[in-house]
Amino acid sequence: MLSIKNLHASIEGTPILKGISLEIKPGEVHAIMGPNGSGKSTLASVLAGREEYEVTEGEVYFKGKNLLELSPEDRAREGVFLAFQYPVEIPGVSSTNFLRTAVNQVREYRGQEPLDAVKFLSLMKEKMKLVEIDQKLLSRALNEGFSGGEKKKNEIFQMAVLEPTLAILDETDSGLDIDALKVVANGVNQLKTKENGTIVVTHYQRLLDYIVPDYVHVLFDGRIVKSGSKDLALELEDKGYDWIKEEVSGTT
Ligand code: ADP
Ligand code: MG
Ligand code: MG
Repeated sequence: MLSIKNLHASIEGTPILKGISLEIKPGEVHAIMGPNGSGKSTLASVLAGREEYEVTEGEVYFKGKNLLELSPEDRAREGVFLAFQYPVEIPGVSSTNFLRTAVNQVREYRGQEPLDAVKFLSLMKEKMKLVEIDQKLLSRALNEGFSGGEKKKNEIFQMAVLEPTLAILDETDSGLDIDALKVVANGVNQLKTKENGTIVVTHYQRLLDYIVPDYVHVLFDGRIVKSGSKDLALELEDKGYDWIKEEVSGTT
């Protein structure tokens, strides 16, 4: 579904990603871990198509299409969902209205009829059962005055409604309380199907107590230096990242 080969990317001329290769098949959950500054958010941003990042080498194919040639909007319409690609705050626009616009853009792109108000409402109700979200949150202006936890819940709800083929979750690494963490994890677990894939970017292991990944990759200095099963995440929790840094410097 997603095939990344030897991906290099720079910001303002500084190389950040230095040869990432990764294959994600339908149904798989991949966790990307690594110390601060290793390039995790850069990878997520490059996949979403954010313009500050320049891809200098390598290729990314998504469902057989060259992802790097698509605009961020078309990537979203093709089914790539990155939580933070959506606007942080939109004064005066409720989450509900924002989502209806987003859903209908996706439908238009796929040549489907737009959902009318009634059909959209029933989709919202169905998804509200999956993701525990307060209806009041959805009628408020998008993200305006939302707490960190509410923003995350709202992002997961957006994901549930948009039903992406590939969801990329870049954890803010900032303290989500255990309740918000569980809502995020439950949402991801509920939405997992045989057809879609998930990339969970996290600095900390604790999210992976709730979202069990099929593969764990450690990103360090712009490269994937180690891949393994969920046990690798436990090892990292136990030993930190220093041993990885030593292993890497020992071999170069
Ligand atoms: P991570 O998410 O793993 O903590 P990032 O992808 O955010 O890492 O950052 C990787 C490196 O790129 C860091 O050294 C960071 O300082 C640098 N970086 C990220 N964004 C920018 C930017 N907009 N301009 C310059 N350097 C950046
Ligand atoms: Mg960081
Ligand atoms: Mg980051």
